[in-house]
Amino acid sequence: MLSKNRLGAAPKVYFRPEMVNCPHCGVKLRRFHTAWKKKISTLTGIIHAWSMAYLCPNTNCAHVGVAYKSAEAEMLSMKHSSYGYDVLCLVGELRFKQHRTCKEIADLLNERGIATRERYAQTLYERYQTLLAASLDDYVRQSLAETTAQHGGIILSMDGVESGFVGLSKEDAAALTPLSIEMDAGDVLCFNHMLPHRAASNQSDTVRWSMDIRFEKTTDATESGKAQGFVARSVADPASETSYPEWLKKWVGIDKGSY
Ligand SMILES: [Zn+2]
Repeated sequence: MLSKNRLGAAPKVYFRPEMVNCPHCGVKLRRFHTAWKKKISTLTGIIHAWSMAYLCPNTNCAHVGVAYKSAEAEMLSMKHSSYGYDVLCLVGELRFKQHRTCKEIADLLNERGIATRERYAQTLYERYQTLLAASLDDYVRQSLAETTAQHGGIILSMDGVESGFVGLSKEDAAALTPLSIEMDAGDVLCFNHMLPHRAASNQSDTVRWSMDIRFEKTTDATESGKAQGFVARSVADPASETSYPEWLKKWVGIDKGSY
C-alpha cells in the first residue's frame, strides 16, 4: 500500500472562499479554521493544498456561523483522493482512447512524476468511469433543473464512490457474503440498524434518488428522533400521535443543517 506521506515535500497553497463578504448581510467573512489540507498529485506537480473556511461573524445575520470554502480548491480533486481530476482525465484517455493496460497506465503516470502502482491505476480508472457515469445527459439536466427550480438551488456532492461497508473493519467486511436485493419501484425494504448494509455503484445511465426513513420506539428515542421525528402510533398515549399536516408544519421549522 502507498503510504500517506509518499508524496514528500510540496509547496503549500492556501485557498480561501471566492466570496469576501457574507452573501446575506455583506459583512466581511472572517477566517475560521482549516476545512481540509492534503497533498494532491496533479499533472503539473504536487501541491499541499490548504482549504481555509471563512464564516460570517455578524451576530445579527441569520446566517452567522455559516462556513464558506473555496470552490477552486474543491475542484482540484475528489474527496479522499490525492490525485487531481486532471490525472483522472489522463487515465481515462489512456484507457479509452489508447487502450492501455493498467500496468502501462501506472508506468506512464510514474514517468510523469505521479507515483502510483498498477492496482491503484485500476482504482483511478474506476473513478474516471464513476465520473463519466455521473456526467450530465439531457435527462439528468432536466431532472436537476426541475429540482433546482423547486428548491431555489441545490448542492451536488459525490458520494458512494467508496462503495463498501463504511464503519466495518476490512476483516469483518471480508467475512460477509453480500446479498443483492432486487426491488421494483414502490417496494420498501425494512431492516434494523445492526444489519451491515451498503450501496453499490449506480450502473444505470440515470440519477439514482434515494430516501431512507427511520423509525424507533418513543420510549428510548434518540435526540434527533425527538427533535425531528413524530409519533406515528402510540397504544399507551393515542393522543400523542401526530397527523401528517401537523408534522409537516413542524418539519418546516426544523433547522436545515440539523438532519
Ligand atoms: Zn452574514
